[in-house]
Amino acid sequence: MGRTKNRVDGDPNDLNGRTTVCVVGGGPAGAVLGLLLARSGIDVAVLEKHGDFLRDFRGDTIHPSTLDVLDEIGLGDRFERLDHRKVSAMDLVTGDDEFTVADLRTLRERHPYIAMVPQWDFLTMITEAAAELPGFRLLMKAEATGLLTEDGRVTGVRYRDAAGTEHEIAAALTVAADGRHSTLRRAAGLPVRSLGAPMDVAWFRLPREPGDRENPFLRPGAGRMMAMLNRETYWQIAYLVPKGGWSRVRDRGVEALRADIVELLPFLADRVGGLELDAISVLDVRVDHLRRWYRPGLLCIGDAAHAMSPIGGVGINLAIQDAVATANRVVPALRESGTVGVGDLAAVQRRRMLPTLVVQAAQLAVQRFVIERVLDGRPPALGAVKRARALRTVRLLLARGVGFGPLPEHVRTPAAL
Ligand SMILES: Cc1cc2nc3c(=O)[nH]c(=O)nc-3n(C[C@H](O)[C@H](O)[C@H](O)COP(=O)(O)OP(=O)(O)OC[C@H]3O[C@@H](n4cnc5c(N)ncnc54)[C@H](O)[C@@H]3O)c2cc1C
Repeated sequence: MGRTKNRVDGDPNDLNGRTTVCVVGGGPAGAVLGLLLARSGIDVAVLEKHGDFLRDFRGDTIHPSTLDVLDEIGLGDRFERLDHRKVSAMDLVTGDDEFTVADLRTLRERHPYIAMVPQWDFLTMITEAAAELPGFRLLMKAEATGLLTEDGRVTGVRYRDAAGTEHEIAAALTVAADGRHSTLRRAAGLPVRSLGAPMDVAWFRLPREPGDRENPFLRPGAGRMMAMLNRETYWQIAYLVPKGGWSRVRDRGVEALRADIVELLPFLADRVGGLELDAISVLDVRVDHLRRWYRPGLLCIGDAAHAMSPIGGVGINLAIQDAVATANRVVPALRESGTVGVGDLAAVQRRRMLPTLVVQAAQLAVQRFVIERVLDGRPPALGAVKRARALRTVRLLLARGVGFGPLPEHVRTPAAL
């Protein structure tokens, strides 16, 4: 990964312990917000606890809504140069039937597809573009440990660098973009509403061969389900197990797992031999949201405000939409007064809550009518979906919902330079 002049490993010296906006978390939400603020001439420090962006299997889907945002800030061509694969449709394949769930080619849009790009390449591109701007600082290996407060207002964060030394950064606004296990939302005491998820996801890869299917697809089967993502030379595979059930899969051993995979997808029979348990990452799925996303001086966005299920692969894109909405609201306030009031923070929540609730409701419906039933050994309830899909309007709505979600955001902040 390129090292840029504005990237330091937790060394606060060039910040003098102060910035205008301190963003905690260098995931999709934090990185994009950092870029948008710096682009408008606002000083911003992004703190990321890891030393790199190499997080495997955390979602690689960049949807049309995000591709439009990249065009709006002049990064469309740079993104296009990243090694990626364009996917337009997702199929559902059962033992005796198959159909396309959503086909983005029906959309009359500039980007009627989802771009599959490794998340670290995307985050590297965003932070490198941001580091070309004078107001941007990225502190890697900088783990926020708590909030600084004064008379009930959040005035910055305390963080630990790679050597374990504690530092403080004062900021006019602190943004918690530190993901679904957010330290800052806990430190702020913001109440979380947990909506539950019936599954965890085991991620692994198997080789892909000429003649395999093109479209990504879902394959439900009695007691388990697989999502297959075409990555050209390999299949990226999400293997769904009942919540907390991975230890049972482990205990049965790799041979039993290989047999279960082949029973669902016989074409993998000649490839599962290479699969080992150590090569599998298991992710705990959560769906939740904060009732209130802010406190004076602090705003939570992305998964820190609403942890998303992997269903639909929309979490990255919702997180980026939150970042755009945040920048649109706070840049004018910071430019006018140098501070951000609670009214501005409440306005960001009001704007982003509806899309969050709609997407989470859709994810819960899929969990209930498809995943829960499949993991319970029952057939998925797909009749209504198949009947509704006969209508062109429903097909268009499904494609638009997956590609853009409700209330897609557009960048309204000016480029200062
Ligand atoms: C199994 C699974 C599969 C998924 N697949 C997809 C998919 O295919 N497509 C999709 O769009 N979404 C997917 N998602 C959801 C998606 O990963 C999230 O919604 C999205 O990453 C949220 O972005 P974020 O920036 O809010 O948080 P994150 O991506 O979680 O980023 C948070 C960042 O904060 C850092 N951090 C955490 N704590 C601290 C701290 N104390 N100090 C400093 N830094 C800190 C972390 O290291 C991380 O870099 C999936 C989720 C799961 C669980």
